[in-house]
Amino acid sequence: MIQRLTIIGVGLIGGSLAQALRSAAYVREIIGYGRDVANLEKAVSLGVIDSYAPSIAEAVRDADMVVVAVPLGAMQSCFSEMVGHLAEDVVITDVGSAKASVVAAASAAFGELPSGFVPGHPIAGTEKSGVEASFPSLYRGRRVIVTPLPSSSAEAVAKLVSMWNETGAQTEEMSVERHDEVLAATSHLPHLLAFGLVDSLCSMDESEDIFRFAAGGFRDFTRIASSDPVMWRDICLSNREALLKVLQQYGNDLSQLMSLVSEGDGAALEKTFASAKAARDRYANQLDGWKGSFPAE
Ligand code: NAP
Repeated sequence: MIQRLTIIGVGLIGGSLAQALRSAAYVREIIGYGRDVANLEKAVSLGVIDSYAPSIAEAVRDADMVVVAVPLGAMQSCFSEMVGHLAEDVVITDVGSAKASVVAAASAAFGELPSGFVPGHPIAGTEKSGVEASFPSLYRGRRVIVTPLPSSSAEAVAKLVSMWNETGAQTEEMSVERHDEVLAATSHLPHLLAFGLVDSLCSMDESEDIFRFAAGGFRDFTRIASSDPVMWRDICLSNREALLKVLQQYGNDLSQLMSLVSEGDGAALEKTFASAKAARDRYANQLDGWKGSFPAE
């Protein structure tokens, strides 16, 4: 059981983790930290955290688990502010959607990485943000990728895995590099395409009609374009290399599809669609299990 959990960034992901661990009676005390006191007051009134601290230094004091759940661009400053204030055998983790950039941020802040530092990423989420959007069952039946580093102690990894298991999630270990490649394809590319498609349609002359007559398919495909722009800017820039690789490949495939349409090659189009349908149907159960994750993250 966690005695003192510190959540830095009490939004959708951090707030949902706090609620899940409280429901599981796996935590004695939850301290929050964020920049906006009104948000933290709300988190207290919603029962998500017990109290909040005025600084990261105070928030992490005596904590046995520290979870950093802020946008990727804010990770380094959060790590820097906790240096010199952490308890000896504290576990420090994050929930960032790209991992190499978080490890780089932690290295820059800590110098030598603490043995208690174990990065992680819950493959769960929605297109909503903020503590009001958080809920205790967000992680139930979802996967959490844990990316232990050579510097991570086995004890810290075990504590992190136990914490996520208590939320109802299933953990899986992966290298940082593999995580970033897989997520570039399954999450970062679809988000970029959804934002790009909506933006592109908006700028067309007939955009009003396009949105007026948009049906279920358009809604399904573009739901994730309602996600937080700042968060997704950070994710795309933080996982730039892996994202560019899949984007390049997808660009080639899209050009190929364009040629098929232009040449009126129905047989080849049908073959592509049939192969995509078979793959989608084969993984449908898994996708349902991921719900907010394949489309939302
Ligand atoms: P969110 O709902 O906007 O929450 C982010 C929280 O961080 C807010 O409470 C914000 O509060 C706080 N914050 C922002 N900048 C900060 C800073 N410089 N110092 C301290 N606190 C700061 O976002 P989220 O969806 O929970 O995402 C958080 C992290 O989870 C991101 O790294 C994201 O990559 C990752 N993630 C997201 C999803 C998803 O689907 N949403 C899924 C998996 C992982 P203040 O504005 O009051 O500071």
